[in-house]
Amino acid sequence: MKNGNNTVRVRFAPSPTGRVHLGAARTALYNYLVARQMGGQFILRIEDTDTKRYVEGAEDELINGLRWLGIEWDEGPDVGGPYAPYRQTERQEIYREYIRKLLETGYAYPCFCSLQRLEQVRQQQQRDKTQQRYDGLCRGLLPDEISRRIAAGEEHVIRFKTPYEGSTTAHDLIRGDITVENKNLDDYILFKSNGLPTYHFAAMVDDHLMGITHVIRGSEWLSTFPLHALIIRAFGWEEPQWVHLSVFLKPSGKGKMSKRDADEAVKDGKSIYIKDLKELGYIPAGILNWMVLMGWGVAEDDVMNLNEMSERFRLNGLNPAPAAINFGKLDHFNGTHIRLMPTDELAELLQPVFAQAGYDVDDTVLLKVIPLIRERLITLDDCLAFAGWFFQEDIEPKPEDLVAKNLSPSESAEIARQIYDILADLPVITHESAEAPLRDLVEKLGLKPNQVFGILRVAVTGQQVSPPLFESMEIVGKETVLKRVGQAIDLLESMG
Ligand code: GLU
Repeated sequence: MKNGNNTVRVRFAPSPTGRVHLGAARTALYNYLVARQMGGQFILRIEDTDTKRYVEGAEDELINGLRWLGIEWDEGPDVGGPYAPYRQTERQEIYREYIRKLLETGYAYPCFCSLQRLEQVRQQQQRDKTQQRYDGLCRGLLPDEISRRIAAGEEHVIRFKTPYEGSTTAHDLIRGDITVENKNLDDYILFKSNGLPTYHFAAMVDDHLMGITHVIRGSEWLSTFPLHALIIRAFGWEEPQWVHLSVFLKPSGKGKMSKRDADEAVKDGKSIYIKDLKELGYIPAGILNWMVLMGWGVAEDDVMNLNEMSERFRLNGLNPAPAAINFGKLDHFNGTHIRLMPTDELAELLQPVFAQAGYDVDDTVLLKVIPLIRERLITLDDCLAFAGWFFQEDIEPKPEDLVAKNLSPSESAEIARQIYDILADLPVITHESAEAPLRDLVEKLGLKPNQVFGILRVAVTGQQVSPPLFESMEIVGKETVLKRVGQAIDLLESMG
């Protein structure tokens, strides 16, 4: 193996240039799984040499987002490791040393062309309808001239001397050989005039020095992939195994998911940003399960946690075909993992949701409520609609909701009074004690169960849809139930 000690080493190498979305998180997840499954190491490397695109706070959002998902790295800027530093702006000395080597061997050269000149070249090529690439003016400069101009402090970049002839082939593990004609490539910039390396150069140097064996990353790098292979070959290094993951399509399946589509989704209460998903009440297990299956060929609806994924994951199971983003599946997996979660664990997650919405939640009540609502939760936030009323001292049902179908307010009030008497007679309200006498009442009145139970449901819970009514009454207890039915009678009477 590449690093000589038989260990798989993979890396996730984000640039802190924006928010953490599904694409980045999935790349991180697959790298993590490869490392776990193959007993290797997973490295987090921050590629921050593009200072123009740097976004304040992006690195924190990234680290927090991945940690929240449960994706942990063995080496990284925050945990250190034998190949530190893991942030590229802290490795500038190293890049300078390596670019010197390429200059010496003639694979790279300084280019003094001004932006205006490059623009003129570009326009000329456009007019001539020829391939857009640097025209090579500085490619043949003699060493003396180069030294003189550098000594005079002339601004310059350093370019890669991409061959004009022939072709370059590199192998992607899931896509096979990819070949490009060298004339279609460019003399890419490796070092900018501000003295910082470009991503292309820094990443290849780091992958080599850090002993990376597999580069698993987004498909947006597929077109620059031959350049990366050329840089590595110029140094005479061994290439890693390359894997370029599938692209994401819009939920409609038509066209690639763009930033604009991502923003649209947010308007519908959906999102591909990890931080948003957390705020929307999605849980790590649900998101991970959804994410892992977008591009990995196992039976579609397999429910797995991170450990099970780590055991089952195989690199050669990755599928390069585009994957449509299906938010319905996210809901499916999220709901499924909520149902699979032990009650006390779920209680811990629901507590802050209730607290944030201003409810004062009693732990013992919550533990009893969870079995009643768990089946219906898709996101954690759904608990508010189903169960918020359990934790309210006073509820405020809409008077019209208390009126039973096809009955008047006063008829409904009369039924509510009879319900009150039946419940008041019970020593305690339980499912067993309350159901039979109330069903008798339905029969005696010759009404539909929904009419009678509807009044009681709205009276006790304040809402027309609720968790199972008898169990719910058992939890809030006789005193509260009677108080609320009493208030409902008053409300119905006041309607005239
Ligand atoms: N910094 C690059 C990015 O954020 C990394 C690409 C790669 O993994 O090589 O996309």
